[in-house]
Amino acid sequence: MARLCFDYGHGGEDPGAIYKGRCEKDDTLNLGRAVAKELRRHGVLVDETRTTDKTLSLKERSDMENKKKYDYFISFHRNAFKPETAQGIETFTYTSQTAKAKGLADKIQKELVGVGFKDRSVKKANFHVLRETKAPAVLVEIGFIDNTKDNGLFDSKFDKMAEVISKAILLQLGVGYKEETQPPPSTSNNQTLYRVMAGSYSVRENAETQVAKLKKAGFDAAIMIFKP
Ligand SMILES: [Zn+2]
Repeated sequence: MARLCFDYGHGGEDPGAIYKGRCEKDDTLNLGRAVAKELRRHGVLVDETRTTDKTLSLKERSDMENKKKYDYFISFHRNAFKPETAQGIETFTYTSQTAKAKGLADKIQKELVGVGFKDRSVKKANFHVLRETKAPAVLVEIGFIDNTKDNGLFDSKFDKMAEVISKAILLQLGVGYKEETQPPPSTSNNQTLYRVMAGSYSVRENAETQVAKLKKAGFDAAIMIFKP
């Protein structure tokens, strides 16, 4: 079974880029963990350099990766430039990349652009976490945190992004993507289930926005489709 190492950029005392109170370290952790969850649903093993808001040096991150043999290393980040001037997705591989790293970077880039982000292309960089890791390594900058449009996409398409990044990784691993199935309503032993609604919407996008809001507030939310 495939084993991956996920790295969520920044954390703890290092907030990463900040814009209007929004911190890169939180976005990278939340989205990365959602991708890890999707992959685990497919039987892929995912180790994470952090699972909480914790300070970690770049060396601690690569040291952790060096301890085991991984199929891929993926570092999640968000970009920043000058407020409201740049936007889009950039995916990086090391300067002397392997074909595997390039293959994964291309797939992640293409999928995220498909969600509606501007394509800033796959690039090479001499970043610590790309250079000092042993597995084929990719670093993805998921939109600009100092761009309102990118943040809007990040929030409203949060679930979609987790899904398409997972799809890109699974495609690279040669594992088929399985749609998430809703558990059938329980009718046995006269059990009554009380479901909590937080709105009904005729436009799916509005429902996705609501789910993203609820998730951000710490609620376990999902879209259920009703055909009246
Ligand atoms: Zn960063």
